Amino acid sequence: MNKADIFTARLADRSVIPMLTCGHCGSMLSKTRVFVNKTKPGVSGHILAYCSADDCCAINCCDEALSSLENDVAQQAIAS
Ligand SMILES: [Zn+2]
Repeated sequence: MNKADIFTARLADRSVIPMLTCGHCGSMLSKTRVFVNKTKPGVSGHILAYCSADDCCAINCCDEALSSLENDVAQQAIAS
């Protein structure tokens, strides 16, 4: 897979705590894999997450999914 490929993370349904899922394989994206994009100037996303699935490793853009949440909830989702 081309490293430049960016998938769009989706918000998992029916979860009490907001959960992001990989736009490529559907795996849950760990909060620890979510980061603010500061080091990839060629990537348009602001909040990114690496998929931790062994055979995926896609980079997901979380902006869209998080923008559908209340801001404070979104911030909690990306905290830590
Ligand atoms: Zn994935």
